[in-house]
Amino acid sequence: MTYPSTSIATALHEQLESQYAQHIARLTTLTCRPRKGAEDEAAIAAARHAIAETARALQRMADGSYGRCERCKLPVPDAQLRHRPTARACLRCRLAPASLPRLCTATTAAPSRSGR
Ligand SMILES: [Zn+2]
Repeated sequence: MTYPSTSIATALHEQLESQYAQHIARLTTLTCRPRKGAEDEAAIAAARHAIAETARALQRMADGSYGRCERCKLPVPDAQLRHRPTARACLRCRLAPASLPRLCTATTAAPSRSGR
């Protein structure tokens, strides 16, 4: 099964491609001018992080793992992906400390997405 639902997959892909281009342009702008200190360095680091996160999301789309929580392996809800297309974990896992047992498990049957 493909996640997220195909109805939003195309829109999310376009959004990620657009974000990627914007982050690259921002990094180019930041690195092609004289740096003014720690604030510029922080902005450059943030742009690089955003590029990496977006690239990883696009890679997950290419390899078919996009939209699945990296911790519990259940689908990340479409609404969460619309809000944050680079999301790698469902909200329950994101909010749970890594030291605690997973709130949901891969052995739990994935909710049916039919009828959406
Ligand atoms: Zn999860």
